[in-house]
Amino acid sequence: MVNDNSCGWINDLNKRSDIKILNKDKFCDWLIVGAGYTGLSAARKLSELHPNEKIIIVDAQLAGEGASGRNSGYLVDTTLNDGFTSNKELSNYKKKTDIYNLGIDTVKKFIKEYQVDCDWNECGKYFATPKLEDKNILINFSKTLSKLGFNHKLLFNNELTKRLGTSFYNVALHTKGGILLHPRKLVRAMIDTLPENVFLYENSSLLDWKKNNDIITCNFKNVKISCKKIIFATNGFLKSLGIKSNYNFPLTLTASMTRSLTDEEFKSIGEPKEWGVLPVKPMGATIRMTRDRRILIRNTAEVYNPLKMSQFELNKRSIKQKIGIKKRFPKLPDDIIQSSWSGIVSRTRNGSQIFEKIDDHVFVAGCYNGSGIGVGILFGEQIAIKASNENTKEIETIEARNKPTWLPPQPFLNLGVKTRLFYERFRAKNEI
Ligand SMILES: Cc1cc2nc3c(=O)[nH]c(=O)nc-3n(C[C@H](O)[C@H](O)[C@H](O)COP(=O)(O)OP(=O)(O)OC[C@H]3O[C@@H](n4cnc5c(N)ncnc54)[C@H](O)[C@@H]3O)c2cc1C
Repeated sequence: MVNDNSCGWINDLNKRSDIKILNKDKFCDWLIVGAGYTGLSAARKLSELHPNEKIIIVDAQLAGEGASGRNSGYLVDTTLNDGFTSNKELSNYKKKTDIYNLGIDTVKKFIKEYQVDCDWNECGKYFATPKLEDKNILINFSKTLSKLGFNHKLLFNNELTKRLGTSFYNVALHTKGGILLHPRKLVRAMIDTLPENVFLYENSSLLDWKKNNDIITCNFKNVKISCKKIIFATNGFLKSLGIKSNYNFPLTLTASMTRSLTDEEFKSIGEPKEWGVLPVKPMGATIRMTRDRRILIRNTAEVYNPLKMSQFELNKRSIKQKIGIKKRFPKLPDDIIQSSWSGIVSRTRNGSQIFEKIDDHVFVAGCYNGSGIGVGILFGEQIAIKASNENTKEIETIEARNKPTWLPPQPFLNLGVKTRLFYERFRAKNEI
């Protein structure tokens, strides 16, 4: 459950020093399990709603060092799913983007209130492919975006080469909405500004829990926490804690980041402004040029057990990422990758998120299918409100989404997921 310590984003920031570990039994009104975007956001909201109650948040590793500190930093307003031709599909897609946009608003509010510097850049994003035949997917997508009023533009070879500094891509759709940011700076700010009645315990893994007469007892190594209400915000680890196990499963992603390009290297690719490309096929590469001229690439997603990846396995993925960079920037030197890391996301079958009251005392939010920056922060806040028996317009929007659909049990699940990933990887072979 503890990730590697080689994530470039995490190592950009100085280490935190005020780490507290659970070392004696505790009682609290509220326990939040998982201190990523979701859990930290829930903690802030609960503190506002219940200033005199005791709120504890625990994490198995250091706070914000799971997916929330190691993602690619795309705060999205739209994602590309092909199709959306019928009115029903269009209305489902709108529900999805309504949630994304509420997510963006929630993050904006937070960074404005606390004056957070997280390299925020409202430069939009590209859905790009080297395969001209995939133009039709983008044209279809463009029709959907036009119907819903999203500002966007189709771009071709030369214009793309100028903007991205690579001639790898032949066609792209640029959406004006969507933000690029530094994921670790954002989650670090959420940790650093936790309110006073929130107690954070790290390197403290919840082992099991049970509910008895309205009190929930949670066991950690040698100690326990008893609480009145609990919120599960463990995302890729919901299944391992037995939460909604037939509706979500973890996937492991790996990414690499280069050092900053030198002036000369940067000039050789035409000195592009910061950009972010998402693939047209789901298993293609996500690739970013950061504002400090580093190249980030993520081009693997797999069912991987155990959850922590060994250095040897990580090195194998890093080679794939080196090839991905080489294909796009053949003139850059071979040895510019500075860090490689893995991270765990949570998926559902139909791409919908989990936001639920399991009973009067047990709540869960998570499973963002790779788009969890804005949605995680939104869902964290709103699950805290729901757990406090209040309602909001945001909760109504969240609850109007399609609900996650049932997954088959093991071993059929892994077999099905692996086959699907294999097929998707094949479809995306030109984009990796
Ligand atoms: C490589 C990568 C790239 C990504 N790119 C993007 C992107 O560009 N845009 C985007 O929107 N999303 C992206 N995502 C997804 C996004 O990072 C997640 O959806 C989001 O961080 C989820 O936040 P969370 O707080 O719900 O979960 P997490 O950040 O995973 O936090 C869950 C926490 O729970 C803790 N935990 C687990 N089990 C226990 C236990 N038993 N006891 C105590 N604590 C426990 C974990 O240690 C972890 O810190 C990416 C993810 C990865 C891995």
